[in-house]
Amino acid sequence: MRIETLAVHAGHEVDQTTGAVSVPIHLSTTFEREADGGYRSGFSYSRSDNPNRRALEQAMAALEGGAAAAAFGSGLAATAAVFQALAPGDHVIAPDEGYHGALKLLRDVFVRWGVEVAFVDMTGTDAVRAALRSNTKLVWTETPSNPQLKITDLASVARIAKEAGALCACDNTWAPIVQKPLTLGLDLVVHSTTKYIGGHCDVTGGVVIAREDGEFFQRVRANQNLVGGVPSPFDCWLTLRGFRTLPWRMRAHSENALKVATFLSEHPRVERVNYPGLASNSGHELAARQMSAFSGMLSFEVRGGREAAVAAAAKTRLFIRATSLGGVESLIEHRASITGESPLTPQGLLRVSIGLEHPDDLIDDLLQALG
Ligand SMILES: *Cc1c(COP(=O)(O)O)cnc(C)c1O
Repeated sequence: MRIETLAVHAGHEVDQTTGAVSVPIHLSTTFEREADGGYRSGFSYSRSDNPNRRALEQAMAALEGGAAAAAFGSGLAATAAVFQALAPGDHVIAPDEGYHGALKLLRDVFVRWGVEVAFVDMTGTDAVRAALRSNTKLVWTETPSNPQLKITDLASVARIAKEAGALCACDNTWAPIVQKPLTLGLDLVVHSTTKYIGGHCDVTGGVVIAREDGEFFQRVRANQNLVGGVPSPFDCWLTLRGFRTLPWRMRAHSENALKVATFLSEHPRVERVNYPGLASNSGHELAARQMSAFSGMLSFEVRGGREAAVAAAAKTRLFIRATSLGGVESLIEHRASITGESPLTPQGLLRVSIGLEHPDDLIDDLLQALG
């Protein structure tokens, strides 16, 4: 099945009782037991499993080519469930640039619980190899990275992890459809479905997808139920509704972003554009090998630093000044002031999520905003 067809049909079934084509939202928290104590469809209590969550999980597993998936109430809850499947004394290698929440979660929560972490530059493989220890259990990757769209060689890092007996995971939030980490040899994929998969800035969620439904994923699955950071049936339904159009949206996001990135790269007030789709980008060759398109996220540095960047963002009319990404509307944000996260984030950097408007309108807006 091709990806457009899969997106429409994965996790979808016409309702057997009513014939409803749009799957009903099952709000029931509890399910009737048979006289013999069993459960008719395997559902017993909504935190453990429910029809809408199961449908979403089936669709997400199909999307990434995984054996199983577990859905959570947010991307960070999904990320935490992976780290919670580790044990005290386990060592994690993580990127020095990536989603600030995930890196902070490791630093502020899991280090206190006895997990050891090395943050390394993942634009090459040397630092990953050098950081390996006998207790390394997980190599966490994120590519393209937030916010400078650095590219990690997923196949090589997965190979290094495997040789060391560690699992390799990718936060694939920025590149669903166009990047398939499990086909490159990785073990786990995490998405914040809040972004491209939901796709309309109206539902928060996350998912963990595993290549094998083995021991590690079983711990993630157990954490979903025991820790309980689960999405509501309505959230699952809405996320799956967004997912149906994901392949077409990713194509348009990618086409639009390449046009905007090309425009920005030629603008005299722009010092640097971070978009792996540009041939001039240092990660382009690698990205072209492991991605089928380059998604809709990019960032750029305005000449004149923080003040000039904030001033340009203040003047946009179509681009909405807001954090997050992956919706139909284009968003712009001065990243360093929003997250206060990492000294690595340049002060003149603006991060943009390219939406589904006409690219020429987006370019006109940036043209007037940059002055
Ligand atoms: C937004 C985001 C997350 C966190 O997801 P939430 O749904 O906000 O918890 C994790 N990773 C990346 C790359 C993100 O963009």
